[in-house]
Amino acid sequence: MNLGISATEFVSQVRDGTISVEEFVAKTIERIQKVENKVHAYITLNDKNALEKAKIIDKKICAKEKVGSCLGMPISIKDNICTAGLKTTCASKMLENFIAPYDATVVSKLKAQDAIIIGKVNLDEFAMGSTTEFSYFGPTKNPWNIEYVPGGSSGGSGVSVSAFESLISLGSDTGGSVRSPASFCSVVGLKPTYGLVSRHGLVSYANSIEQIGPVARTVEDIAFILNIISGQDVRDNTTIDNGSVDYTRDLDAGVSGRKIGIITQMTSDGIDKEVVSATNRAISKLQGLGAECTPVSIDAVEHSVAAYYTIASAEASSNLARYDNLRYGFDFGIEGYEFKAYVSKVRGNFGPEVTRRMLLGAFVLSAGYYGKYYLKAQKARAKIKSQLDEAFKKVDFLIAPTMPILPFKIGEKIDDPLTLYLLDINTITANLSGIPAISVPFDISSSGFPIGIQLLANTLQEKELLQAAYALQETTNLPEVPI
Ligand code: GLN
Repeated sequence: MNLGISATEFVSQVRDGTISVEEFVAKTIERIQKVENKVHAYITLNDKNALEKAKIIDKKICAKEKVGSCLGMPISIKDNICTAGLKTTCASKMLENFIAPYDATVVSKLKAQDAIIIGKVNLDEFAMGSTTEFSYFGPTKNPWNIEYVPGGSSGGSGVSVSAFESLISLGSDTGGSVRSPASFCSVVGLKPTYGLVSRHGLVSYANSIEQIGPVARTVEDIAFILNIISGQDVRDNTTIDNGSVDYTRDLDAGVSGRKIGIITQMTSDGIDKEVVSATNRAISKLQGLGAECTPVSIDAVEHSVAAYYTIASAEASSNLARYDNLRYGFDFGIEGYEFKAYVSKVRGNFGPEVTRRMLLGAFVLSAGYYGKYYLKAQKARAKIKSQLDEAFKKVDFLIAPTMPILPFKIGEKIDDPLTLYLLDINTITANLSGIPAISVPFDISSSGFPIGIQLLANTLQEKELLQAAYALQETTNLPEVPI
């Protein structure tokens, strides 16, 4: 049985009886057991439940009863998205044994369509990172070469889909966390418009910029799952009504006559040569399909890394204040501790990156520095948004490489936070401005690593964005993952 099919193919093969759900889920679990010791994508496996659910769905199909549109497809969920009855650790010691009493809205929506939650996947602690090395449970590895990082923070999502351990995964993207692993692992990753997908049940890191986003093998699969997870939610008052757009329709509309702006600041300095040439090839392909591509300068992008790390850390310092080992926590006696000693002992259990962000965040929010840092960052954010608004008056889409460099060795940059932060240069603009952005696998480097190309569109233009991404995808013919 081929586990490397798309979710869309899975649906049609289950419908026509070529495969049974139980068979597919059982084979997926076997596959997970075979490759997990190499890639470590999963934190918690939901194998028993998954198999039981698969049997029930098969029975329903046999009896011609109504079954949800996911038809039992195995989906993995980033471990910062709440799942009732299944641990949600955020890859942190703080939540090592935490079981949420409810499902995130996206999870309920998937379950309502008979998706099977196959397990919870690894991330950088509380989604802070770009490599999935900052997990309390150890790093996830890139299936294209297991000595290399898979991107992050949704590394488990990227790897589980890329290594045939799930058909689709849900990640979260605060500054590129869905798109970075998608790019490094040769899968598709979408960061939707802020408010298109409910964040209810997503453990907050930087709530004003993050969105839950899907990772899948094809653009069609992204459209399929976006139909299910998008829409207004009474439990998240930042959600918007998208008028129930069907993202799967007219995916093949093409890009003929579409205007695409090549972001100057994201295609020049510091970008790996092979990444630049892949981007140029992608642009030529799109031109060949009738798109008009012209350079566009968005100079405020130069402030994006500083603005992002100021705002995200500020929000993190506030959001993570709740982990005091009273309401959430691990087995650690309170007896005999004076208050300050207790707090410092407990809060000392965060990993180094989370600690760094909380300290930075508390600093930029503190009296006397607020205006100098936080307010300034918000002004830069507003400037980025207004320059993008201007750009979208002239073009339909923007294009840039998703990641500035190729995957690198695990451990190589772990002690160099600034270098790691700079890796987000091309992804955070979409978060700071709330617009949608997608990473499409486009090429493989001479050293054998995937290169993803990013397309960005104006607010709520997911349908058009997916059409452009589909057009780009159809120009490629990429090899299968070597693991
Ligand atoms: N690398 C970015 C950060 O560490 C983005 C992470 C994310 O999108 N969750 O904040």
